[in-house]
Amino acid sequence: MLSCPPYLSLLRAYVDFTLFSGEDCLMKDSRIRNVAQAFALLLLLFPIGRLSAQQPRQINTRRANSSKSTDSRPRLVLLIVVDQFRYDYLTRFGDLFGPRGIGRLMRQGASWTETNFDHVPTFTAPGHAVFMTGAWPSQTGIIANEWYERDTGRRVKSVTDDSTNKLAGNPGEKGYSPRRLLCSTVGDELRIADGDRSKVIGISAKDRSAILPSGRRANAAYWFGTDNGNMVSSTYYFSREPEWVERFNGRHLADHWFGVHWDRLLPEAEYLKRAGKDDVPWENLDKSSNDTNFFPHVITGGAANPSRSFYKALDYTPFSNDLLVAFAEDAITNEKLGDDTDTDLLTVSFSANDYVGHRFGPYSQEAMDMTLRVDRQIGTLLDFVDAHVGLQNTVVIFSADHGASPVPEQAALMNLPGRRYQKADLRQLVEDELKASYARKDRPANDYSQTFTSRGQTEAGLINNNFYLNRAALKRDGIDLDECERVVGELAMRMPGVARYFTRAQLENNLVSPADPIARRVLNGFYPVRSGDVIVVFEPYNILFDLPEDPTDPLSTATHGSPYSYDTHVPLIIMGRDFARGSYSQAATPADIAPTLAGLLSLQAPSCSVGRVLSEALINNKITRGRVRQ
Ligand SMILES: [Zn+2]
Repeated sequence: MLSCPPYLSLLRAYVDFTLFSGEDCLMKDSRIRNVAQAFALLLLLFPIGRLSAQQPRQINTRRANSSKSTDSRPRLVLLIVVDQFRYDYLTRFGDLFGPRGIGRLMRQGASWTETNFDHVPTFTAPGHAVFMTGAWPSQTGIIANEWYERDTGRRVKSVTDDSTNKLAGNPGEKGYSPRRLLCSTVGDELRIADGDRSKVIGISAKDRSAILPSGRRANAAYWFGTDNGNMVSSTYYFSREPEWVERFNGRHLADHWFGVHWDRLLPEAEYLKRAGKDDVPWENLDKSSNDTNFFPHVITGGAANPSRSFYKALDYTPFSNDLLVAFAEDAITNEKLGDDTDTDLLTVSFSANDYVGHRFGPYSQEAMDMTLRVDRQIGTLLDFVDAHVGLQNTVVIFSADHGASPVPEQAALMNLPGRRYQKADLRQLVEDELKASYARKDRPANDYSQTFTSRGQTEAGLINNNFYLNRAALKRDGIDLDECERVVGELAMRMPGVARYFTRAQLENNLVSPADPIARRVLNGFYPVRSGDVIVVFEPYNILFDLPEDPTDPLSTATHGSPYSYDTHVPLIIMGRDFARGSYSQAATPADIAPTLAGLLSLQAPSCSVGRVLSEALINNKITRGRVRQ
């Protein structure tokens, strides 16, 4: 963590610190924090003229509408997720953050320095399902962004629901829903507890990142439709989008960014110092976009006017986040979020940081610029919440769904063991050898890998480092499934870069130890009905690249999904009047958010919650065993 002089830490306890230069300075431990609180109390009792003069921006309580007095219970819970935000972005760029966004959360919130996801694969959908359920994929059932569905013989997304239609998208297009999420969320429990008076809304550029955190009983989830630039939704929630959403879409806000230049927020010297050169050979770019791999980026998607290729290109820019902020502000106003004492929940997930990270990697000038800009964008949103709800009536949670691995070629130049593998090569190796292992005259053994349909194509066997076996074919030929899993695992180990394999039989029969950190993460990511029969884990910085979920998306330069810290270590900051500001070094996970909120709001914990209450930051030890002490 960043260091700061002790006297500065003390002063920062209850004083607004924008006057001091080290904005990223966090208190180091609870001992300092306690001393700081005592010192701050003295300041309150015996005001010192000089220090009083340095308090022009006392913590946020003045700026809210005077009618928004402080209530006994938060009026609004605001979950802010930045997709693919590594923990080290706080330390690499934190001193460049502004006073209102992530910088404000770092100074005024409780920040955990050792927060890790404890599951693999560290992908968007599984990560987003954790925040408000407090549970791992082994319980939520959200094991990946997409998986092979054994019942229907097809590849499905985490939010696929053909019983719904998309709203504000293409006519007749199928919609999405949270029906594959098996656990309740904080939002669900809120609405169940108060007869649906609480409002719960999810917003993101990605469907899964809007739908999964808000939960099954949410009022609505909205995401960015790249077909037409609308904020779209699903008939799962209502038969027609609310009027205010139709008005928002009628403004065609996305089109305002057509042809806009995206340039650096700060002088290039800062970027050269912290992120290296801009124009590097490994940065991938879709050649059809008419863009370059260096600043400034011109945003047209190669189109002559706003159309699908432009809207997809917009996803890869900071302006996509601006659109989400504008939409979230409209949601707060029109849905009257935080307007009464029935606590509402708004989840906002900024996806563009992930798209940019995939294209340029975590050590790029673009990733750095996205980080600086999302800080400002979060600042705009927090200012709006302050003005309309009052931050004193709001609990703000800031985290990320996963980190990111360096671009393998760049990692190799850093003397890290970076190497890139293609999914097709691993699949081919295993397929060929599997046939050779089992083939006999009367048994061609050519169908032991499970085939399935995916976007109208037939695909075989391997998704998300999971091998799926054709159990019916194995049974037909009298081959033991457990044995075949071991054979596949051993064959996969012949591929350079493969570190370990885990079989379904091992995981289902508790034959791996949770004390083994990699095994525990695989176990937490395994749900038998949906997961594969053999799961492969690569060595650090060795990455298997899959085709993008949407075939019209560019191939990824960098990615995430491993059990290693560059993918699991994420920020966790909670800002609210019940949380003591400061830096906490206790181990935490994003699964701790939901039980902490449930306790704070006196709710039944979400159904699968396994996280712990983050009691070290709760003021006055307010929560005892998940209950608020009255
Ligand atoms: Zn993600």
